[in-house]
Amino acid sequence: SRPGVPSRHVTARIAPLGSRLVLALVEDRTRERRVEAVRRDFVANVSHELKTPVGAIRVLADAVAEASDDPVAVKRFAGRMLIESDRLTQLVQQIIELSRLQGDEPLEAPVAVDVDEVVAAAIDAVEVDAEGKGITVVTGGTKGLHVFGNEEQVAAAVSNLVSNAVAYSDPSSSVSVTARAESGAVEISVVDQGIGIPQDELDRIFERFYRVDPARHRSTGGTGLGLSIVKHVAATHGGEVRVWSVEGHGSTFTLTLPQHLPAVDDRLMPTPGP
Ligand code: ADP
Repeated sequence: SRPGVPSRHVTARIAPLGSRLVLALVEDRTRERRVEAVRRDFVANVSHELKTPVGAIRVLADAVAEASDDPVAVKRFAGRMLIESDRLTQLVQQIIELSRLQGDEPLEAPVAVDVDEVVAAAIDAVEVDAEGKGITVVTGGTKGLHVFGNEEQVAAAVSNLVSNAVAYSDPSSSVSVTARAESGAVEISVVDQGIGIPQDELDRIFERFYRVDPARHRSTGGTGLGLSIVKHVAATHGGEVRVWSVEGHGSTFTLTLPQHLPAVDDRLMPTPGP
């Protein structure tokens, strides 16, 4: 169990009601307390994570001010300020996205989301990074497939998986993004030949702000929130996300999302006879 999270919290209140009757009220607040502790953890982590880029921008602004007579240095510091402020923007965006998803509330007005379009957009978004590392991104099987859900959320989930695949891949390797329909669901797989993930870290990578290697992470510039967003999107859609990985060889992430709203399926089903 997590530090600071009480394992069990039960209150019992006993009220005498006349000579024989006793009213016992037993209230189990364990879940409520856990949720509260997780929320507190999240707020503490968010503050910590925001402080890093904000602090860096502060230091760089000082450096720019002091180096004002050295245009080369000013340019270098300004460039780094830009990187840090982009990082801050990405972090804030993902925190907002995650806090929206955290309730795992049912989807409002879900629609048929075109898998091919979502995958194409995710690949477009990593084009520059992929080209820079000489990584080839290939796709297959995405045409004509739809999942039922929230387009923005599905796009964010696929985009996070594809950008991770590129970020954690070796130069000149390839990444594949494929989809296939499988008993009422669509399986979207993102396969890379990158650094892989140690077996004992596999179930932790979906935690908020968890990174396998925080030192390497600085250079890839991620937020540590991507996979927890993917996990929440899967949950709100009634789907799932799974991972296979061999350290040093690569990883496969599979996001499975339903093709239809269950109620639609029911209506299409023949009504049972008498
Ligand atoms: P980040 O912004 O750090 O990429 P994520 O939540 O998306 O955050 O991922 C959490 C951690 O899981 C990453 O820091 C990285 O250590 C690991 N990871 C995610 N995807 C991959 C991948 N395709 N290959 C190797 N490691 C990965």
